[in-house]
Amino acid sequence: MVGLLVHKVPTSPSSYCMLSTHKLTTVMVSLGWWRIAAAVLNALLLFHGDSFAQRDPGYSFMHQATTAPVVSYYDYIIVGGGTAGCPLAATLSQNSSVLLLERGGSPYGNTNITDLAAFGAALSDLSPSSPSQRFVSTDGVVNARARVLGGGSCLNAGFYTRASPRYARLAGWDPRLVNQSYEWVEKVVAFQPPLKQWQTAVRDGLVEAGIQPYNGFTYDHLYGTKVGGTIFDPNGHRHTAADLLQYAKPSGLTVLLYAPVEKILFTRRVGRPQPKAHGVIFRDANGLMHRAYLKRGSKNEIIVSSGALGSPTLLMLSGIGPKRQLKAHNITVVLDQPMVGLGMSDNPMNAVFIPSPQPTEVSLIQIVGITHNGTFIESACGENFAGGARTQDYGMFSPKIGQLSTLPPKLRTQKAIDKAVEDMKALPQSAFVGGFILEKIDGPISTGHLEINSRDPNVNPTVTFNYFKDPRDLQRCVDGIKIIERVIESKAFSPFKVNTLSVVTLLNMTANSPVNLLPKHANASRSLEQFCKDTVMTIWHYHGGCQVARVVDRDYKVIGVESLRVIDGSTFRNSPGTNPQATVMMLGRYMGVKLMRERLGTFGAN
Ligand SMILES: Cc1cc2nc3c(=O)[nH]c(=O)nc-3n(C[C@H](O)[C@H](O)[C@H](O)COP(=O)(O)OP(=O)(O)OC[C@H]3O[C@@H](n4cnc5c(N)ncnc54)[C@H](O)[C@@H]3O)c2cc1C
Repeated sequence: MVGLLVHKVPTSPSSYCMLSTHKLTTVMVSLGWWRIAAAVLNALLLFHGDSFAQRDPGYSFMHQATTAPVVSYYDYIIVGGGTAGCPLAATLSQNSSVLLLERGGSPYGNTNITDLAAFGAALSDLSPSSPSQRFVSTDGVVNARARVLGGGSCLNAGFYTRASPRYARLAGWDPRLVNQSYEWVEKVVAFQPPLKQWQTAVRDGLVEAGIQPYNGFTYDHLYGTKVGGTIFDPNGHRHTAADLLQYAKPSGLTVLLYAPVEKILFTRRVGRPQPKAHGVIFRDANGLMHRAYLKRGSKNEIIVSSGALGSPTLLMLSGIGPKRQLKAHNITVVLDQPMVGLGMSDNPMNAVFIPSPQPTEVSLIQIVGITHNGTFIESACGENFAGGARTQDYGMFSPKIGQLSTLPPKLRTQKAIDKAVEDMKALPQSAFVGGFILEKIDGPISTGHLEINSRDPNVNPTVTFNYFKDPRDLQRCVDGIKIIERVIESKAFSPFKVNTLSVVTLLNMTANSPVNLLPKHANASRSLEQFCKDTVMTIWHYHGGCQVARVVDRDYKVIGVESLRVIDGSTFRNSPGTNPQATVMMLGRYMGVKLMRERLGTFGAN
């Protein structure tokens, strides 16, 4: 077991060459590890290289907000057409009139979204019309949030896996309806990935490393090693939460695009102590303000599904939040609620890059090791198809999307990103082979907070995640890296390991990648704790801000007001499963069914 990163390993390319006479090692090392890692990740972008725009379903209910009336009335108004908002709207439309307001555009026809080959392109598109909006937490980690119908499911790496039954039980969810809701989602957006040599070797390496039993292909969250699902179909085409709108009853649903909601409107009724949400104000692309109100009816509601950044922000812009913060922005206080914006968490991700002595298939995340000590191990690999690149880009670890993994968080500035992007442009399109194994920690336990910066809902709030603030999170990361070490050293993985590159060397290569603009600490002894801190990245599973029992009750009703719920990832205390999107989509469907049953007076029926 390698517990410490010892300081035997030189970090300059020329000194790497002295490590071994092994030709391959020499080639890899002299090319520079960051190039290999970049090439591997570039390959991920090239997977299924044919450009393909997922077919536009031609939803009759989807319109630009500019075409909307100035005033309109609905049974439900849902703010945010994201991963939770789409299945929720599709479900509620069966028996009610529903308005779904999304601040971004349609995902259909945008190949940066629909093609697996373009993964990362949307994240590095910083234009105002991009489906992703970059934000940098005060921790200094560059991150991204969705701005498109389908939300985060249009940007993500596609891995699809359910939460554990324990997670559902703690959330107070009905297990039968949970199961039915997952199945409803899976019929449309989930697929079994093809498993080839590298993923098979990591899978078997995990089993050899003791992450047992092997559970085969399953969406279920089971301890041990498994093959999970993906929202990319076998042709590499993405199926997002927007596809779940095909379940909608067209006459019951209106979807408006480019419709950022600026504010929820409240009324106070005689004899009722609590303010009641009764409408919203949204602005169209021409700057015209529209008002949408709830129709009369005790079951009618406004539901906020604007994501972990958008939902707490909108509550605050509407007057629900910490009084002092609202006053600082001249927002009339509807409810002084200090818990709005608290409990923000982002699960830290750390990865080890591994050059391979033989070609690998090209794969995104397909397998996961679910450990008992709160870490999840995943992997991806690929080749650089020289000359076939649509863009000079490096996938999940591209500096274009801000993943300067070896740069301490606070130094991941735009200037540093620009410099790294420039350096990457100089890369040759040579063929390199390899992959990476990453670990993400469960939870996490460390939490932070969110504050608004403006009354404009499109302006990013200030977010702090406090990665590894709680020592138990750091310990989970260390445990995860130790498992990765065992996988790399396993017999099953040996065909993909260059014998002359020890695990310590691999860790140091990762820690000292030239995308790091800092002076190197090659001769300093480092601990795995230091490795975790120095190489922390986001896996974009951030959540919180409107947490259950703090801002909403267990039925997702906003505490202290009437006719308002929040249903999305902002309500989570912990990220569900190993990766959250399956459960976010499930929750949209689950709550849609519950609300529909309540309206029909059949709650509890199947
Ligand atoms: C790059 C990346 C990779 C990821 N990889 C994976 C993975 O492989 N597997 C996995 O399970 N998860 C993954 N995730 C995480 C997962 O996608 C998210 O957890 C999930 O999409 C969050 O869903 P949500 O409904 O809470 O928010 P979102 O899906 O973000 O939806 C919120 C929606 O609300 C809209 N909105 C916000 N404010 C307003 C407003 N004021 N008015 C109108 N509309 C508004 C936004 O535009 C957005 O469409 C990844 C995420 C990213 C970004």
